Amino acid sequence: MKKTLFLLILAGGLLACTKQQPQENSYIVDKFYDLEVLRYDVPDFDELTLQQKTLVYYLSEAALQGRDILYDQNCQYNLAIRRLVEEAYLCNKEQSSKCESFKEEFDKLEKYLKRIWFSDGIHHHYSEDKFLPEFSREEWREMLRNVPAPKIEHILLQNKQEHSHSCSKSTEELLQIIEDVMFDPDIMPKRTNQADGVDLLLTSANNYYQGLTQAEAEAWYAAHKDNSREPLWIGLNSQLVKDENGIYERVYKVGGLYGEALEKVVYWLEKAKDVAENDQQRLVIEKLIDFNRTGDLRTFNEYAIAWVKDVDSRVDFVNGFTETYGDPLGITGSWEAMVNFKNLEATKRTTILAANAQWFEDNSPTDKAFKKETVKGVTAKVINATILGGDCYPSTPIGINLPNANWIRKEYGSKSVTIQNITDAYDKAAQGNGFNEEFMLSDKEVQLNKEFGCLTDNCHTDLHECLGHGSGKLLPGVSKDALREHASTIEEARADLFGLYYIADPKMVELGIIPDKEAYKAEYYRQMMNGAMTQLVRIELGKDIEEAHMRNRALIANWVLANANPENPETQIIEKDGKHYMQINDYEGLRKLYGKLLAIIQRVTSTGDFDTAKSLVETYAVKIDPTLHKEMLERYEKLNLAPYKGFVNPVYKPVFDENGNITDIKIDYSEGYIEQHLRYSRDYSPLPTWN
Ligand code: ZN
Repeated sequence: MKKTLFLLILAGGLLACTKQQPQENSYIVDKFYDLEVLRYDVPDFDELTLQQKTLVYYLSEAALQGRDILYDQNCQYNLAIRRLVEEAYLCNKEQSSKCESFKEEFDKLEKYLKRIWFSDGIHHHYSEDKFLPEFSREEWREMLRNVPAPKIEHILLQNKQEHSHSCSKSTEELLQIIEDVMFDPDIMPKRTNQADGVDLLLTSANNYYQGLTQAEAEAWYAAHKDNSREPLWIGLNSQLVKDENGIYERVYKVGGLYGEALEKVVYWLEKAKDVAENDQQRLVIEKLIDFNRTGDLRTFNEYAIAWVKDVDSRVDFVNGFTETYGDPLGITGSWEAMVNFKNLEATKRTTILAANAQWFEDNSPTDKAFKKETVKGVTAKVINATILGGDCYPSTPIGINLPNANWIRKEYGSKSVTIQNITDAYDKAAQGNGFNEEFMLSDKEVQLNKEFGCLTDNCHTDLHECLGHGSGKLLPGVSKDALREHASTIEEARADLFGLYYIADPKMVELGIIPDKEAYKAEYYRQMMNGAMTQLVRIELGKDIEEAHMRNRALIANWVLANANPENPETQIIEKDGKHYMQINDYEGLRKLYGKLLAIIQRVTSTGDFDTAKSLVETYAVKIDPTLHKEMLERYEKLNLAPYKGFVNPVYKPVFDENGNITDIKIDYSEGYIEQHLRYSRDYSPLPTWN
């Protein structure tokens, strides 16, 4: 629930922070469909001690070993399809360079494979829709014919379970099923379905449940819910299955589901443990190793608490089953990993915010009954990511706020991070791309963004992560699950509104975080433009808004537009020369509207008011005006930009002395997108095809 995605303006126009760059942008590695692959710098890596660098290296290896897990969580056919397409790619590559007529279909295969890598499977990482190959079934079979039969069998006959659905089938039968999954638009069309009024499990392609209806799963969770004071997160690390043995969990652990990958993760965590910076960090790693081995949720709680308390280390990491966006019921965690270290200079900013957390809580425009009397342990820091893995790769958040268990947050606090080098990479890749000039009302807004866009964007993320998510409280007896399928959208709206309300507060200038009392206007303009208009370029014409963060931003902007003063609107969409633009007439008035909505959303959260949550989401956050949508898409298309960004990782290479001791870790940025994924699939792919 606590991730900030980079949505503001789809890195597209996000702020040209410095002067325009020449055409060739060295941060853009690859571009296909609506996707752009960037690289990121890891500044100050050489400032780390050898021990810290070695720790980063071991944790990076642990981060890469879980890559297959996410593929399988996203859809049970993903590993089979990825492996077959990769083999087809490798086995046809030579021929494609010799034969001009074959090259065209081979390029389509390459594009399909690049798309699979970007989405960790066959469904779009963002829209959740299945994408289809551009090549035909016949062309697919032809390319498969160039793959040696033993290779295909090796891929298709790797079974984890005796009774696995694939076990009794021949290679031919499996190939036919896989082909249908790849090409038939009606099979598994949606990864995670959020639509109203249908069985969310039966209509979702992902692999968190097998053989159950939504009602059966909900009943199982209700019966197994832990209502103790320090509850276990039942279902966090398991697949729920119904078969002839009844309903049971297959737990993700060494020896259990995904055990082959978790074993490798543990191998590298063991090494990392030996070079931990201090005892607290060592405890974190030990608990995580233990949890991976046993799957025991009590150990997970101990790990999460130890992790929150580890605030003095320079290096930090996330590795495991974490965010629950992928599960239509919001319970099971998708596997993700990120290794990072503190950016000391930028962390000063968030330290100031954290030190003043109580002031922000006390002065927010929400009802007193919903405020925390004491805001506990909001630790906030700015980090540089060193490796992205699992659900953080290739597409990644720009902020993380964990742990997700509310009782741990309440008792022990949470850690909140803003990922500076990723934000910087987005900015650098977006320089001079013409987005702001096209969509902003006038040069005034463009200039405002040039001057303050970067800074206010980072500050808004800081406020969202360090203070927003941690603010407010639930009334006694209100369940964290009360808002059900709308919980993520409402929670993100709450954190965003907290940030929007406060970024305009004189306190920010007083604290020295924002240099100019006008600067916030850059953020206000962008948020309104993005939420009501430009974020629509990420959605296909005719489709609804689905993703929680996008819904949140639409909710805020559209609510404000609908509730603006009808005589004298604070903000409105206007038409100029046949194009529509966001216009803000009264920035202070807009701040009041943000405050008003924050109070409503906080009340909805604190009281668990499902009906209002549902009505807010359905009224403002799902449906799109088709005329406006079409216009946005057409204007955007002319800019020739990609709305979604992802990354390649740097490569970390240990240097050894003659005794085999590590003497340094070198960092290399030169690996390309295709090379990286082929290498990962070769060196970090421990799972069987069917799990
Ligand atoms: Zn968030």
